[in-house]
Amino acid sequence: MKSLDLIAFSKGDWEQSFIFFTEEGKMVVENTSPFLSHAAFLAKPFLVALQAHHDAELCVIHGNVMLSEEELLAAGLQLLHPRDYFLAMGEQVEIENKVLRAAHWSVAHRLQRHCSYCGGSLQKLPETTEKKCLQCEKSFFPKLSPAVLVRIERGEEILLARGPQHPPEMYTVLAGFIDLGESAEQTVHREVKEEVGLEVTNLKYFGSQSWPFPDSFMVAFIADYLRGEIKIDPTELEEARWFHRDELPLLPPPSTLSRKLIDDFVRRTK
Ligand SMILES: [Zn+2]
Repeated sequence: MKSLDLIAFSKGDWEQSFIFFTEEGKMVVENTSPFLSHAAFLAKPFLVALQAHHDAELCVIHGNVMLSEEELLAAGLQLLHPRDYFLAMGEQVEIENKVLRAAHWSVAHRLQRHCSYCGGSLQKLPETTEKKCLQCEKSFFPKLSPAVLVRIERGEEILLARGPQHPPEMYTVLAGFIDLGESAEQTVHREVKEEVGLEVTNLKYFGSQSWPFPDSFMVAFIADYLRGEIKIDPTELEEARWFHRDELPLLPPPSTLSRKLIDDFVRRTK
């Protein structure tokens, strides 16, 4: 079992900044927090570290948990998928950024193990997210897949849709991955046309969010309805319709960018 550079950490500001992931990508959570202090981590010999990634404020440890889930629960710990943790945590911007960064590191660690040119093993370089092939020395960075979200407004109404991947009764804004060669604005126009058959205008930037489940990066826009009748693409959506701001359906959790887009609409039109 390979030991790591953990012992080299001596920075006083690392308190509460260790996040432990199992090799399957689950996060160890203690008393509803995924952050362990250095001392708390060392006091848990059943958390076996195999590799660590770190920057100035966060140390992401990958390893094995030597207890069963029942034994972990008895010890006051839980194993959670970082996405479930993130969705349940509400709006806490400081924690948000660290959890998202740690989750993306965890994904990159598990999915980028071998060089796609020669098949050689990849080795993580210190103080960066870069990995290098031990045979041909090609560099690899964590994959990032950009996507857009768009809130379409028509007076006091907003267009919301639901796809087969959403929980029953939950509606959200339209979303789509940016295609090769496209600008984010072009993606918005194409996706809206493809998914609901509408045309939009007055595109405005709203905000962005990392969504490393496994590797997305969301860019959110606001748009006005221009013309067209709703005609959904059944391969992407189950339903899309206009909702009045006072009669909104079940929405995504508050920590998501799509929910922030919808909440902002309600605030602005009241
Ligand atoms: Zn290689």
